[in-house]
Amino acid sequence: MFGTNGVRGIINEDFTVELVLNLSRAVGTVLGPGAVGIARDSRMGGEMFTRVLTSGLTSTGCSVVDLGLVPSPTLQYMIPRLGCIAGVMVTASHNPPQFNGMKVIGSTGIEISREIENQIGLIYQSKQFKIADWNKIGLVTHYDSAIDVYIEGIKKLLDVDRIKNRKLKVIVDCANSVGGLVTPRLLRELGCTVVSLNAQLDGSFPGRNPEPIPENIKDLALAVRVTGADLGIAHDGDADRATFVDETGRVLWGDQSFALIASRVLAKKHGSTLVTPVSSGRLIEDVVRKAGARIDWTEVGSVVVSHRLEEIGAELGGEENGGVFFPAHQPVRDGAMTATQVVEMIALEGKTLSQLVSELPAYFNTKVKVHVPQEKKESILEALLELSKDMNRITIDGVKIIHDDGWILIRPSGTEPIYRCFAEGNTQETADRLSDEGVRLIERAEKLV
Ligand code: MG
Repeated sequence: MFGTNGVRGIINEDFTVELVLNLSRAVGTVLGPGAVGIARDSRMGGEMFTRVLTSGLTSTGCSVVDLGLVPSPTLQYMIPRLGCIAGVMVTASHNPPQFNGMKVIGSTGIEISREIENQIGLIYQSKQFKIADWNKIGLVTHYDSAIDVYIEGIKKLLDVDRIKNRKLKVIVDCANSVGGLVTPRLLRELGCTVVSLNAQLDGSFPGRNPEPIPENIKDLALAVRVTGADLGIAHDGDADRATFVDETGRVLWGDQSFALIASRVLAKKHGSTLVTPVSSGRLIEDVVRKAGARIDWTEVGSVVVSHRLEEIGAELGGEENGGVFFPAHQPVRDGAMTATQVVEMIALEGKTLSQLVSELPAYFNTKVKVHVPQEKKESILEALLELSKDMNRITIDGVKIIHDDGWILIRPSGTEPIYRCFAEGNTQETADRLSDEGVRLIERAEKLV
């Protein structure tokens, strides 16, 4: 029932109060007893689901600390600080408006591992819920200072005085959700002039689709350009991600903002380690090499990156979609923290965002999907591993084949009957050629099984 990042579904169709009730009873049974921190974003049904969640958890004897409306990273930051044994965020992150969901978080603030998800899934299926005696039912308290504590925590890691001196002008697109409760205020406290778009909380997402990708943030790009702002920042529905717009109105790719941040953070200490999924490309490899750091590759997925960061104590984590993890702050994706890192960079280095981006090497991508029969998905992967065994490759998640002028990543989709082929090269021509090579390899593998 858990996907790559929690449980999600369409409200009152496949994500229902019954599901939330039994899932929260399963969470309390597996992770309790103790206090569980809960919160929600602005999505429809958020209040309905947090009430059911509260009932389910307290019936197992867990107490509940309700943080109200806050971003996922704010709840995650507070879990260890409030001494909670777990957390549950009611959110469907960047999904379309009709979705809601739950992210279950462990005592460190990181989303629970696949193993714990499986344990919770088994209890959910068997309905072997813990039922507390009448005098052991959990208590409910409210905690209203999470955003204050979280903002102070971020400011402690910044050169606040020097940022204040630059008086940057920033436009923040809050996606009609909880990012609007943090980022505009945080930036004002850093001396920025802030204009907010889509700052009213509204679960119908009237301003835009909550995924911060270029086609959804055209208003922000235009606003930055016509008002002469220094940059624009767009969050997703639960504000664990931030996408940037430079002063000319151009939307940065996720790997560009990630690379800019990585080059600064990793250079602070020689021999640093960066954790990133195999889907990251040459741009990240280049900045890591230049900073005298090393890469620790993982499977694709933010939760895997968080657990790996905690396990090996690395300096930074990130994904090509623009999710950045700062272990010095917390080892989970954090939109407001990411936003302030880019703001600090512009303030301290005295360059515009477009100038900073122009200093990065340029690479080109091609992404294609290849349809395959669902029942053959696994055996095709085995055949691909066999076909590529003499090539320079990484096999942590799918097969990543490395050439001098680029690479190809071939992975089965977790949910659909398709293989994704992602190629990158020094030129668009190379990326297209490598992509064709990947598609031919998938076709050869399919014939073998
Ligand atoms: Mg998110």
